[in-house]
Amino acid sequence: MSEPDFDVAVVGAGPAGCVTAYLLAQQGHSVVLVERGEAPGAKNLSGGVLYGRVLEQVFPDFAAAAPVERRVVRNAVTFLTSTGAVGVDLTSDRLDGNAYTVLRARFDAWLAERCEEAGVFLMPGVRVDRLLTSPSGAVTGLVAGDDELSARVVVAADGVNSFLARGLGLRPKPAQNQLAVGVKAVVSLPRETIDDRFGLVGDEGAALAMVGEATGGIGGGGFLYTNATSLSVGVVLRLDDLAASGASASDVFDRYCEHPAVQRYLRGGEVLEYGSHLVAEGGLGMLGTVATDGLVVVGDAAGLTINSGLTVRGMDLAIGSAIAAAGGIGDALDAGDTSAAGLAGYRERLMAGFVGKDLTTYAKAPAFLERPRMYRDYGPVLEDVMVRAFDLDTTPRKHLASVAWDALRTSPVGMLDLASDLWAGVRAL
Ligand SMILES: Cc1cc2nc3c(=O)[nH]c(=O)nc-3n(C[C@H](O)[C@H](O)[C@H](O)COP(=O)(O)OP(=O)(O)OC[C@H]3O[C@@H](n4cnc5c(N)ncnc54)[C@H](O)[C@@H]3O)c2cc1C
Repeated sequence: MSEPDFDVAVVGAGPAGCVTAYLLAQQGHSVVLVERGEAPGAKNLSGGVLYGRVLEQVFPDFAAAAPVERRVVRNAVTFLTSTGAVGVDLTSDRLDGNAYTVLRARFDAWLAERCEEAGVFLMPGVRVDRLLTSPSGAVTGLVAGDDELSARVVVAADGVNSFLARGLGLRPKPAQNQLAVGVKAVVSLPRETIDDRFGLVGDEGAALAMVGEATGGIGGGGFLYTNATSLSVGVVLRLDDLAASGASASDVFDRYCEHPAVQRYLRGGEVLEYGSHLVAEGGLGMLGTVATDGLVVVGDAAGLTINSGLTVRGMDLAIGSAIAAAGGIGDALDAGDTSAAGLAGYRERLMAGFVGKDLTTYAKAPAFLERPRMYRDYGPVLEDVMVRAFDLDTTPRKHLASVAWDALRTSPVGMLDLASDLWAGVRAL
């Protein structure tokens, strides 16, 4: 039998694919990285918060060397209502170095450059159509147009739709409540305007998450992240809820941007780009088979995202899975056994590391976040409590507990609902 063209062929130059390719090349293996976009990052919706501690394991100096936009020192979670906004706003030096905003066109390109430096053969502008398999069903390479390329191991890092993993039946078609659609724009503003509006200095950044009226009561949320001279603004909407609402995702996005609590940050800005993309929301329940004969699945392709209600995480899990995959594949190549059994070390590393542990911790979060009161009722109740507390006139005052009780009694939220949501929330988030 002839020698394969490469030890490893990685499909998709997002964070998962780039880090897998980089680490395997560092181990001395021959690696090809195939990306359908004309350049890495070109097909990826720009903007997001990268929880960067895991990337430091691969590139200890990435915060200084990579094109990160701002370091996040301010996190806020806000319930939007039809008349206002109420939330928790945290600014802390203790967040320093934890998270950075990134624009993917620049960030993915930087990762891909590191890959090339490490000896990875990068093939941009090539879409992989299908996998090559042996008569026994083992994956032996890939097909792109008229070209075939063979490899000892193929890595499916082709994102949330992963036709490669789905084609092999490794991941069932996700249910509608396991998927969300993200609609997002990047809005240009002068640096000083961003600093003033968000209360930031220098390279400080902010990540604001918003729920409730942010999505018109549809399961999901809105976000607003600061880049150096632009804002990433968008909504993430659960597909089943969106379909039931009859609204279009772009209308919900437009309404979000027009809410006074969002508009005050956006006004005067110019839209640089706009797009939509699917987001996996099923957490542990979406994780399929991650290794089979000759193939491993990493990042979004394996369904690795966590929505904890406070944060949307995918890039750090993609990188964590890449580190686990590179370890497992390296061991399999060294042992000369790239069968499912030989590659099983990947899943073990994945589940033993922070990715598997966090997926397990938040396993109940997707079901909890399906409760409609989160998006519809609690914002107005909280706003009511705060308005009653701050709206001082000459009527006699009540203690805060009585104020909260009054607000609850006049809301659609029953005490049993509240108790049930609190109990479920404590166990899920
Ligand atoms: C609106 C929105 C907001 C988000 N916000 C955040 C956030 O703030 N923080 C966070 O951590 N995560 C966030 N995420 C999730 C995050 O973007 C993903 O989890 C992350 O990009 C996954 O990385 P990946 O490398 O697995 O896949 P991707 O980044 O999707 O990369 C897949 C790559 O594969 C390529 N590809 C696909 N098919 C083929 C093919 N057939 N042939 C060749 N190439 C192919 C694609 O072009 C792409 O470059 C957000 C997602 C969305 C949609």
